[in-house]
Amino acid sequence: MVNEKRPLEKHVGELLSGFIDGELTQQQRQWVTLHCDECDECRQDLARLQALRERIGNARLSEVGEDQWRENMNDPIVQSSRSIGWLLIIAGMLVIAGIGLFAFIFGSDLSIGEKLLMIAVYGGLASLFFSVLRQRLIERKTDKYKDVEI
Ligand SMILES: [Zn+2]
Repeated sequence: MVNEKRPLEKHVGELLSGFIDGELTQQQRQWVTLHCDECDECRQDLARLQALRERIGNARLSEVGEDQWRENMNDPIVQSSRSIGWLLIIAGMLVIAGIGLFAFIFGSDLSIGEKLLMIAVYGGLASLFFSVLRQRLIERKTDKYKDVEI
């Protein structure tokens, strides 16, 4: 490792993700902390990574289990692509279910009130889903950016 070097002699870019993930030795953590105190560039990188990790973490925790999130923590790009795939499959199913539901609603003897209620419930579910999908797509762009940065 490069621990022997003094903090300011080398940027700590490659240690930042490990720093955030808590994977560094105490010595490395100290080194990153000291370096970021003095180096604007690395401090900004660190802040950006921390914000990114937080955003991705929250988004995933809301949808997948916490264990799965931990398991995939080191591979956000793969995980995010897989999420997109699932979301697209679910989107397709929602569309099909929607068509079926509307055919049922308009082909049946339900009262107008009941029809409207079913449409409202389905519409609520669908818009909830598409807001999650939109968040995922934004997140995937961020992941690409992160890949370039690290
Ligand atoms: Zn630096």
